[in-house]
Amino acid sequence: MATPLTASRVLAALRAEGVSVVEVGSWRTHNRAGHGAWGPVAGVVVHHTVTSGTAASVAICRDGYAGLPGPLCHGVIDKRGVVHLVGWGRANHAGSGDGDVLKAVIAEKALPAPNENDTDGNARFYGFECVNLGDGKDPWPAVQLEAMVRASAALCRAHGWSAASVIGHKEWTNTKTDPRGFGMADFRARVAARLRKAPGTDTPTVPSQEDTVPNPSMLNESNTTDVELPSGEWVGLAFTDPVVHSGPRLHNTLVHVSLEEEAPDDALVEGRFYLTDTSGKNPSAYQTVTRHGGGGHQFALSGTVPAGKHLRFQLRVRTPDASPVTLVHRTATGPYWTAA
Ligand SMILES: [Zn+2]
Repeated sequence: MATPLTASRVLAALRAEGVSVVEVGSWRTHNRAGHGAWGPVAGVVVHHTVTSGTAASVAICRDGYAGLPGPLCHGVIDKRGVVHLVGWGRANHAGSGDGDVLKAVIAEKALPAPNENDTDGNARFYGFECVNLGDGKDPWPAVQLEAMVRASAALCRAHGWSAASVIGHKEWTNTKTDPRGFGMADFRARVAARLRKAPGTDTPTVPSQEDTVPNPSMLNESNTTDVELPSGEWVGLAFTDPVVHSGPRLHNTLVHVSLEEEAPDDALVEGRFYLTDTSGKNPSAYQTVTRHGGGGHQFALSGTVPAGKHLRFQLRVRTPDASPVTLVHRTATGPYWTAA
């Protein structure tokens, strides 16, 4: 067990681990001093809030409610992966639990199933309340889980603890079911992996959107079938359309077209990306990029595609004499993510 970190020290440890932190009011001195011990500490307890919405969740965890005064944890971790520090010192989060579990945490050994509630957990554990309804359906966004892993790892690293010092509330007492929706063994494995890295060796998780995007598939299509483009008409290029999503995603899509070299130099070549719904209807605003002449042209898109939208591309050529131009080759490359 260890002397609790000071407020300044925990703030520095969280930031060094790449966690985005919001300091809520007088969190450094908001605690349950006078209602029991604080320290020595042995580990970290992870909870779900059974609430929704960041502001409401932070408020209740700071202030508590009738019968259970706040703070109800040290940090609230929202769905975007931001840690809101609401208190420091003794907090009403772990409550009574099993002394045999505490012994296992101190020894960093496998946990026995809790079957007694004979030990004051609020004196021994840091606590993170993580915003989730706890109904087994409310999702745990990747950025939130990553922030939970990093916040836990930050405390373990500061104390020289292993991931075995991180437990779920339901592992502390048989009277609780939180956190629900992910496995604590998997969670500890992620904390352990995090601890094997030096802090600050990679970029912070939030609020960068790229970090929400694991393992994209790669669109890499090439088509050499000639397509005659009538002058002045938009033509959709029939790439595979894999772009259906479960949420906002960052795209970096590159379309390359090759027109017949004989096309006039003053031919106007326009390309545009746009979004439609899954039935191909309700097109978004277009962003048209203009090129000139025959040969190769590239069109790039960087941006997000909301849930349920398809990304599409169209090409239009205008020639001075309204003659058609032949498209001889086209490719599309870029990452994409299919619906979960
Ligand atoms: Zn809990």
